[in-house]
Amino acid sequence: MQIAWEPDLGTLRAHLENRLPAALDLLREMVAINSFTANRDGVNRLGRRTAEAFAPLGFSTERVPAANPAWGDHLVLTRPGNGERAVAMISHLDTVFPPEEEERNDFRWRVAGDRIYGPGTHDIKGGTVMMWLVLDALRACAPALFEAVTWKLFWNAAEEAFSPDFGPLCRERLAPGTRAALVFEAEGREEDQPDRPGLVVARKGRTAWRIRVSGRGAHAGARHARGANAIVQLALLLPHVARLTDYARGLTFNVGTVWGGTVTNRVPHEAVAEGEFRAFDTATFVEACVRLQALAGPGEVCSPEDGFPCQVAVELVSETRPWPRNDGSDRLFEIWRTTAAALGLDPEPEHRGGLSDGNLLWDVVPTLDGLGPRGENDHCSEHSADGSKTPEYVAVSSFVPKATWNCLAIARLMAES
Ligand SMILES: [Zn+2]
Repeated sequence: MQIAWEPDLGTLRAHLENRLPAALDLLREMVAINSFTANRDGVNRLGRRTAEAFAPLGFSTERVPAANPAWGDHLVLTRPGNGERAVAMISHLDTVFPPEEEERNDFRWRVAGDRIYGPGTHDIKGGTVMMWLVLDALRACAPALFEAVTWKLFWNAAEEAFSPDFGPLCRERLAPGTRAALVFEAEGREEDQPDRPGLVVARKGRTAWRIRVSGRGAHAGARHARGANAIVQLALLLPHVARLTDYARGLTFNVGTVWGGTVTNRVPHEAVAEGEFRAFDTATFVEACVRLQALAGPGEVCSPEDGFPCQVAVELVSETRPWPRNDGSDRLFEIWRTTAAALGLDPEPEHRGGLSDGNLLWDVVPTLDGLGPRGENDHCSEHSADGSKTPEYVAVSSFVPKATWNCLAIARLMAES
């Protein structure tokens, strides 16, 4: 016999409206805790507050130290169900704003009309609060479903720094019978298309690289011809790197930083550039790796005296694989799309350039992202009087409709699978 799991829409909405003030109080507390990735104590304080908020829903806590001891602990909350199905929900604790920057830009909780400005309101403390709203509402309005499902909640302590250990951590702990990994990063929606929210079904992968040119140092006055100028070599090389960008294939190369040389009376012996590249599909990604590495070897800049060439070394520093479009994500999107019709929404499958923890999970469990509230200007703390700079904010009016939608879609997912 199938238990009736679908919550009644009217009851669900009323419950969520009722709980919104408590949810916003929780968000306000979370935003007040600076949780910049490198602020270990702040991240851990936020982790404790998060565990406290979910404890009344019956969740037990596990803290897992991050591989990098400078970062805070990852957080895993579990509520075992009495059935065979499980759902994983994913968020992160850290933000990109150091405490000094928040101070300098007076960037903190500020309500203006429908917007709440502040660090992490949108990325991703608003997403964490969305998880809380959804679970609280399911417990109240669909108790049989809430009790049947094993809920497993994961918070990355260092998502903004591409923490490499978080993927394996989640994979090891996914409950048997996990039907979906739901990622609560922000929803995508164009200002002029209010009925067309974007849910993320694919994300680019990213490889960080370093190009190091070793030349030969020499006295710039006495032995100029003996030198092999590493900066000149690097400068000749970088346009080749930039030209590897291919927008038609969704491939972007970014030269991010350069440095080289020491003082002006030396022919510089060393120059270094760092950057990254991104692509959606695995084939493009692998090809980009090969083309970048083909730049390694002896360069064209040589010592005029004896032909000693500059040497180019290409190093791949870190890699996060792409999350390509796939059947599992498409099936989940379809469930959210069907459910949205009752709410007057027509969502779009979004391919996003930025990474999320979805990149680490899509190949082991069907993954859908963008389930958080709506807002804008992630990673920006600046504010200018002429409005050309607006800091990160979340839209208050997006919480209840999105939580309603998420609850209905989760109920349908559980009923169908
Ligand atoms: Zn995020």
